Amino acid sequence: MTERHGRREFGTLRLAGVGRRFGRHDALADLDLEIHRGEFIALLGPSGCGKSTALNCLAGLLPLTSGSIRLDDERIDVLPPERRGFGMVFQNYALFPHMSVRRNIAFGLRMRRMSKAEVRRRTEEAIRLVRLEEHADKLPGQLSGGQQQRVAIARAVVLEPSLVLMDEPLSNLDAKLRLEMRTEIRRLHQTLGLTTVYVTHDQEEALSLADRLVVLRDGRVQQVGTPEDLHTRPANWHVADFMGYRNLLRLTAGERTGGAIRVEGRGLRLEATPVGDIRSGQPVVAGVRPEDLVITDSADPGGNVVRATVDVVEYQGREHAVEAWTDDGVRLHIRSGRRPASGDEVTLRVDRARLLAFPDDLGSGPAPAEPEPPEGAR
Ligand code: ATP
Repeated sequence: MTERHGRREFGTLRLAGVGRRFGRHDALADLDLEIHRGEFIALLGPSGCGKSTALNCLAGLLPLTSGSIRLDDERIDVLPPERRGFGMVFQNYALFPHMSVRRNIAFGLRMRRMSKAEVRRRTEEAIRLVRLEEHADKLPGQLSGGQQQRVAIARAVVLEPSLVLMDEPLSNLDAKLRLEMRTEIRRLHQTLGLTTVYVTHDQEEALSLADRLVVLRDGRVQQVGTPEDLHTRPANWHVADFMGYRNLLRLTAGERTGGAIRVEGRGLRLEATPVGDIRSGQPVVAGVRPEDLVITDSADPGGNVVRATVDVVEYQGREHAVEAWTDDGVRLHIRSGRRPASGDEVTLRVDRARLLAFPDDLGSGPAPAEPEPPEGAR
């Protein structure tokens, strides 16, 4: 590791067996992760899964109860936060309200032994980077939420940290600003090549920003992978659930043929792609994304079809979110470019490569949500 202008350059940050207990509760257990320089990593998962705990352990705000964190060969989990050289951006911005934008951004630099000229140069550069030139003399209270978040980001990156940690930085912004700031964060990441660890519960945000995602559940890693890995090959049905596989059906495995497996029950009989080791007769959760249930008009749609009656149709931009029920009371979520009418009988085709069969053996947690069919549906 080398030091340049206070920025600690490194190759790999390694978390090995990192855990944090509160009393008898493992908020985070056994986290193994390698983060390479320049990577954008998202920690993703539902509320309470341990994302913030992981981030705070990295930052040094929370001591580990097990495991170690190394920057290349140096063990850093024993160092206090300020010696780790990381930048932090929180959802509540944490700006100094009585200081101008410029002074907020310069603050960290002034704390270091740095010439006035250098402080000025780097501050102005950071202001330009987050496009706040016109607002540099204002107080935080005079800025919009998105602008305040930009100040918070500039304040972190101006210190040229080796790693930036972001905890739900966009969660206080409205939908439009979130999208804008998402692009901004990605742009900054690309411009500066900053290694970033980003906590969010929003899978869309994580998928659009990150090079790799770490999905957590109950303090444990469920899967680490690229957005594409997680999108097309979730490791278990909990990850699938989180990745937008809104149709999760408890069925039973039938025979295996080649790479596929039959899944059946509740009036359905379909070919699916098994994920992991599944044997005939075993309970499975079959998952498919709404956009992979395709409404077909074909008189001869072939195999792997489900017939259902359309219930609710919602217009969502270019597509429609359709809810339909089978005769056996299975609810299906469909995304379609076409707009069927409520009460229409539809035939849905599902490519067996897109219908994944997961072992239903995780034991804990609720079953995939399957509410009662509405009045009128059989
Ligand atoms: P959220 O998205 O709601 O912020 P999270 O995924 O960041 O959730 P954490 O804040 O890391 O979750 O919390 C993980 C678990 O550890 C939760 O069950 C939480 O209640 C527990 N926990 C966190 N901090 C403490 C603490 N200081 N004392 C006791 N339990 C804690």
